[in-house]
This record gives sequence, structure tokens and C-alpha cells, in this order.
Amino acid sequence: MYKVSVFPEGSGVNPWFELSSYKNYKFKDPSLIKDSYDYVVVGAGFGGVSAAFRLAENNPSARIALIDALPVGFYSSGRNAGFVSIAQVAKALIGFDRFTLEDQKWLLRLNRLIVSRIEKIKEQHNLNFEWRYDGMYKGVREKRNSLALDRLEEHLTNLNLDYTRVKGDDLASLLGTDFYKDALYVKDTILNNPSETIRALASALPSSVSVFENTKVSEVTDGARPKVILSDGRQIAAGKIILTVNAFLSKFGFKAASNVAAIHSYGALTRVLTLEEQKAFAGVNPWGLTATHPSGATIRYTSDHRIFVRTDIDFASRLNVSKRLFNRSEYYLRRAFLRRFPNLKNVDFAYHYGGLISFTGNTRPLFGEVARNIYAGVTSDGTGVTRAAILGTYLADLIQNRDSEELDYIKSAYHPSYLPPEPFRSIGASAFLKYKDLYAGVEL
Ligand SMILES: Cc1cc2nc3c(=O)[nH]c(=O)nc-3n(C[C@H](O)[C@H](O)[C@H](O)COP(=O)(O)OP(=O)(O)OC[C@H]3O[C@@H](n4cnc5c(N)ncnc54)[C@H](O)[C@@H]3O)c2cc1C
Repeated sequence: MYKVSVFPEGSGVNPWFELSSYKNYKFKDPSLIKDSYDYVVVGAGFGGVSAAFRLAENNPSARIALIDALPVGFYSSGRNAGFVSIAQVAKALIGFDRFTLEDQKWLLRLNRLIVSRIEKIKEQHNLNFEWRYDGMYKGVREKRNSLALDRLEEHLTNLNLDYTRVKGDDLASLLGTDFYKDALYVKDTILNNPSETIRALASALPSSVSVFENTKVSEVTDGARPKVILSDGRQIAAGKIILTVNAFLSKFGFKAASNVAAIHSYGALTRVLTLEEQKAFAGVNPWGLTATHPSGATIRYTSDHRIFVRTDIDFASRLNVSKRLFNRSEYYLRRAFLRRFPNLKNVDFAYHYGGLISFTGNTRPLFGEVARNIYAGVTSDGTGVTRAAILGTYLADLIQNRDSEELDYIKSAYHPSYLPPEPFRSIGASAFLKYKDLYAGVEL
């Protein structure tokens, strides 16, 4: 019996959800939940939606329920920065990189597979969500951080990935700000409204999958016929259960989740810039930039002429964001914005929110059976969208016995390393983050 001690909560107002064209899409009414399914998937982010698609594809007659405590597209999969990285070089959030070149090659192969699956669903169902190959800049301002850019360039060359290095005035004219001095532009990255993407994908699930949002799971029991128990007491029997609940897996009390931890980070989106304000961006295409320094800010100039900022990281000893940390983040978001766009000092943020990112000590996700007939997947770093989709897809293959080279690799490589227990974990992680912040300088 695994009882949930904490449920996920929103923090602030998620702009991507508010602005999504799928916001008002209606999923099934939770009163229609049946008392038995072949598979129950808990958590409808990129992990859960991908699992549900694959379960149905592998076995079209299986009856599947996909359940989430919150609206689909409201939590991390719908409140991230909107980068879907194919050409992704894995980076440890806290701790040290333990990804080999071989792991990197697998990550690229899996990312490509997953992204092509998403694109196939989009096309087949004529889904109308933003999905732009705008690419990604990895940028630096401080000279001392250029070393990390050189190292990244080396990685990209070793992996045969397409990139260009842009500096100085050329970079400023591409971005509409002269804040950054040096950058690598990596083409193979999609920018999107993440909430719109995940909600649109969930809307296209086949009729054998019933999606129930705003439905909290308060307990799961393992065994020959495992059960999901809802917060209103209703019980659902299942053949097998998949938990794609992000770091909340630890709040179910599974031993396997003891090596999963999480950070909070914060995002803000401005109103649409006026035509006068847009003059500084004349000829500039929508872009997204992540810092080479792990604590640095992420910035986007969106297709509808807004500025997005993500910055400020704290260790999430409690998974839900506290009011104090949420309020504090406004200062850091504003500072990051004004450092880069001093001429836009009259432009306010229209939205400000907090979110959760799970991580492991060795950049390797959690994947597999966590109790009898209960399976779980939790991501391992900040670029979790493709990773969550990989976990969900291959968890489905695992429980439906669909063998592949990809599944063999995942089974052998996706094991989080040991993380010390509390209070040492919080103390160590917070000290690491402080140290990184100090070193990041104005990249924050
Ligand atoms: C500010 C921010 C920026 C980010 N930027 C990027 C980015 O640009 N690119 C990128 O690749 N990644 C980014 N990430 C990380 C990425 O969003 C996540 O790694 C990814 O979405 C994880 O997907 P998931 O399906 O595992 O989890 P989630 O999307 O968190 O889904 C888990 C779901 O489980 C549900 N749940 C939990 N407990 C229960 C329960 N008891 N009962 C029912 N449901 C439950 C939750 O409500 C939630 O919807 C960012 C994250 C944040 C917060």
C-alpha cells in the first residue's frame, strides 16, 4: 500500500496554459471513471500521455485510463520554457555529469524517435499547436563562461551535430539585445507553447484511452491485481499501473524514489510588445536561448512578440513552491529581464509562475517496476520533455513485452545513483546551488 502524502499544486499563473488554444478542450467527466481498466496511467504530462499513446498502439483493444490531479497541461509539462531539444547535450542540474559519449548518442537517437512520434500524431490528427524549428542559442555574456561554450562546441562536433558560433554584433542583430557576447546556435530544437502541445496531444488519444483531469490519486496498492484509490475513496482495479508523476513519486513512499530529488524554477512572460517596442526587434526571428552556465537565465522572444524569462533555482525539499520563494523569484526574474532589455523597463510581466524539475545524481532517469505490477518513470535533468516522453513510451513497451534495442539500453542505463538522505541532501544541494549562483555572475 503506497499512500500519497502531498498532492501537486499550481504556483502563480501559468501563461502557457492561459494562452493555449486547447485550454477549453473538454476531457471525460471524472464521474465516468470505471472500477476496472487494463492499464491505469497516473500523471498526464509528457510521460503519461506518451505512455497512454504507446499502450493503445501496442494493444488497441486494451482499456486505459489516464488520470491527473490537475488539468492536463497545467503542471511541469505545461509550465516549462517550451524547448524541445533534439540535439541535446545532457547536463547535470546538481552534481557532476556522468553521461558518456555513448549515452549521448543514445539520447539523440531516442530524442529523434520521440519527436518524430509527436510530429506524426500532430499530422495525423491535424493538431493545431505551435511547433517551430527556431533552434536554440547557448549564450554567454561573461568571458569566464566562454570556456563552457568551447567545451560544448567540442561535444557538438564529436556528436556530428549542426551548429554555428555567433559573436558580438552579429549575435546582437539576431537577438535584438547586445547582452550576450558569444553563442552557439543549435538548429535541432523546437520551440512551442508547452501547455498547448501536451493538451493537444492528450486530446488526440484514441477512444480506448479515457482521460480524467482534476482527479487526485491518493493511494496505490501493488499485487497480482493492483489498485488505484482516488481521493474521494473510489477504487480502480488495473492489470498494471504506470506512475508518471514527476518527483511526486517520492510522495507515494516508494523506496526506488529515494534517489530522485527536485528543484524549483520560475518563469515570467510579458504582455505583447507594442509596435514601438518591437522596433528594437526589427528583422529578428523568434528565438530561444539557454545559458551555458547551469544557473543562468533562459530567455525567449516569442512568435507573438513577448519576452519570456526563466531564472532562479532553489532546492525543492518540499515539492510545492512556497509563497515566500514564489514572491522572491519576482525580483530575480525582473533583474534578468532588465539586464537584457534595459530599454523595455516599462514593460511589465503579465504572468509569473513557479514550477518543479526532478533530477537525479547521475543525469540518469528512474525507469522500471517499483512494486509488483506498478511501474514508474521520473526524469533526471532540466531538459525533461523529450526524456519524459521516452520514459512513458518505453514503460508501455516494457509492460507489454515489446522488445527493442532502445528498451534494452534504457533498462541497462536508466538507474539513478545514490543521493544522501535529508537533512544532508538539502544542505548539500543548497550549498551547490549557492556556489553555482555566485559563479554565474550576470548570467542569472
Ligand atoms: C520552469 C521550468 C522550465 C522548464 N523548461 C524546460 C524546457 O524548456 N525543456 C524541457 O525539455 N524541459 C523543461 N522543464 C522540465 C520539464 O517540464 C519536465 O522535466 C517534464 O515536463 C516532466 O514531465 P513528466 O511527465 O515527467 O512530469 P509532469 O509534467 O510534472 O507530469 C506529472 C503529472 O503528475 C500529476 N500528479 C502528481 N501527483 C499526482 C497524484 N497524486 N494524483 C494524480 N496526479 C498526480 C501532476 O499533476 C502532473 O500533471 C522545465 C520545467 C520547469 C518547471
